[in-house]
Amino acid sequence: MNEAIGESVATPPRLEWQVASVVSVTQETPRARTLVLAVPRWAGHRAGQHVDLRLVAEDGYQAQRSYSIASAPADGMVALTVERLDDGEVSPYLCDVVQPGDGVELRGPIGGYFVWEPAQRGPLFLVAGGSGIVPLMAMLRQRGRADVAARAQVPVRLLYSARTLDDVIYRAELEQLADASQAEVVLTLTRQAPPGWSGYHRRVDRTMLEAVSWPSSDEPNVYVCGPTSLVESVATLLVELGHAASRVRTERFGPTG
Ligand SMILES: Cc1cc2nc3c(=O)[nH]c(=O)nc-3n(C[C@H](O)[C@H](O)[C@H](O)COP(=O)(O)OP(=O)(O)OC[C@H]3O[C@@H](n4cnc5c(N)ncnc54)[C@H](O)[C@@H]3O)c2cc1C
Repeated sequence: MNEAIGESVATPPRLEWQVASVVSVTQETPRARTLVLAVPRWAGHRAGQHVDLRLVAEDGYQAQRSYSIASAPADGMVALTVERLDDGEVSPYLCDVVQPGDGVELRGPIGGYFVWEPAQRGPLFLVAGGSGIVPLMAMLRQRGRADVAARAQVPVRLLYSARTLDDVIYRAELEQLADASQAEVVLTLTRQAPPGWSGYHRRVDRTMLEAVSWPSSDEPNVYVCGPTSLVESVATLLVELGHAASRVRTERFGPTG
């Protein structure tokens, strides 16, 4: 087949580097901001996928990192949300320096495992730590789109672990989803909680997962994303609670968070 021959001799177009321009920046929290990008050759993406982003200094030094796509496939644009690590090489630049009109090198979309499709059956259970909310937000946004809603009537629950309430990315949008009964949103704050906080105030643990997740007999599709330590402990606990490992998809963002 021509397509097979083509694939074997050429890099697929979606993995070629190209220059995207920053259309807008939005401060989401004191440490995170969203960049909306205009990508000249964009073949579309699936909720949960990411891109590679490359910064090139004048002396030729390059730094490359992965960033999940926050926008829904149906939104017709590419939005990334980056959380600043103060001692990081790339994220402070993306959070503090990049401005509308700037260009960044990008390739993607990448990833075929950590994706959710509206046609998937079974409840959707999302577990996020910190910026791990980003690809899960793409799933929530995709599910909420009117044109896919009819196909995606599965119930969804999000368990989101953040340091403080101010660190909750997309907080207003999540509150709207919860108010509209589009999703059940459960927050847990691992550091400071505001006065009168009645929600969870600790790291995600077994008791919390038992209380928030559907029982394994309901066969939820589970997506866990965030710092490596959170992802590994949550995935292990869910399997101990009886969830099939094949239904627990994970994405690790980095060291310990
Ligand atoms: C598939 C994938 C998708 C990702 N999507 C996103 C996203 O949507 N938003 C986002 O903000 N980040 C995301 N990340 C993380 C991102 O790729 C970078 O690792 C992160 O921005 C830090 O890069 P840096 O250059 O600023 O820090 P570095 O210079 O690489 O590291 C600085 C210090 O922070 C530690 N560190 C590195 N990464 C992390 C981390 N994730 N958590 C805690 N400590 C860390 C390092 O060990 C080092 O001590 C994703 C990672 C992967 C693999």
